[in-house]
Amino acid sequence: MQIITHPHPTLKYKSKSVVRINAELKAIVDEMFELMYEAKGVGLAANQVNLPLRLFVANPSGVKGDGEEFVFINPVISKGTGNEVADEGCLSLPGIYGPVNRSKSIHVEAFSIDGKSISLDLDDFMARVVQHETDHLDGVMFTDRMVEHSLQTIQPEIEEFEIEYRSKLADGLVPDEQTVHAELTEWEAKFCK
Ligand code: ZN
Repeated sequence: MQIITHPHPTLKYKSKSVVRINAELKAIVDEMFELMYEAKGVGLAANQVNLPLRLFVANPSGVKGDGEEFVFINPVISKGTGNEVADEGCLSLPGIYGPVNRSKSIHVEAFSIDGKSISLDLDDFMARVVQHETDHLDGVMFTDRMVEHSLQTIQPEIEEFEIEYRSKLADGLVPDEQTVHAELTEWEAKFCK
């Protein structure tokens, strides 16, 4: 398992609801936490590790053994109130940051990795993390939510990722989109049906 970067096709894929929580899924979640901490992130969505599943992990402290670990399975956000603009970054666009307008407060319903219902009112930083990660599950990157003039300033850096990806694709170092989608379908058969 590794973190994929823009413009890998799975980052644009709309993830499927998880209907099966088992030991294999728990192992996947553990590995996602490890990768998130290694990369010094505070959240990591399943499609960022090339899995088409509606789940993400988060720890607002970003430090293993510190703060609180959350697993949100099939998250649904509602009651967004207030607005706040703040800089965001993403493990799938490492080194790139930009301002994104988000709801200041949200309500989120989800399932934990133990299959228990989660119902939380969140504000500020944690509300932002949950909105950023839930967007991933819908194939939306934070850059998709940036206003045009902010996006323009980081466009050259984004294009560097795209040039590198196209070059790897041409050299056969990364699978083509058809192969990627075939793999995602196999994962869906395991956890979403
Ligand atoms: Zn992200």
